[in-house]
Amino acid sequence: MRDDNCIFCKIAAGEIPSATLYEDDDFRVILDLNPASKGHALILPKEHYRNLYDLDDELAAKVLVLAKKEVNKLKDVLGCDGYNIVQNNEEVAGQSVFHFHMHMIPRYKDDNVGL
Ligand code: 5GP
Ligand code: ZN
Repeated sequence: MRDDNCIFCKIAAGEIPSATLYEDDDFRVILDLNPASKGHALILPKEHYRNLYDLDDELAAKVLVLAKKEVNKLKDVLGCDGYNIVQNNEEVAGQSVFHFHMHMIPRYKDDNVGL
């Protein structure tokens, strides 16, 4: 499944370059272009799903396992003090790119990130 007008389809496929932290057959993990904090990353499935409403069940299970693995790895690399996992569905909830993605936002003491 793919949407030719979707930027995250192109990034996930590697057709548009991105700062990739991890990649496998199902997902690409990239740094956010406009980070809320140092090391803000996104998990993108390679297939196109608008958001959580229609995400494939198997991928839905895999994405949290991947998030767990990534935050465990990144917290040591970044030296952050905590993590927010955020996932927005539809415009009213703050979704701006309509290809499912999960935010992994490192938190640092007194960082003033407003979520
Ligand atoms: P949303 O608001 O949909 O939950 O999150 C979209 C996120 O994607 C935002 O944090 C935004 O900074 C990021 N973003 C938008 N376009 C690009 C892009 O072309 N490359 C990267 N790496 N991040 C992007
Ligand atoms: Zn897409």
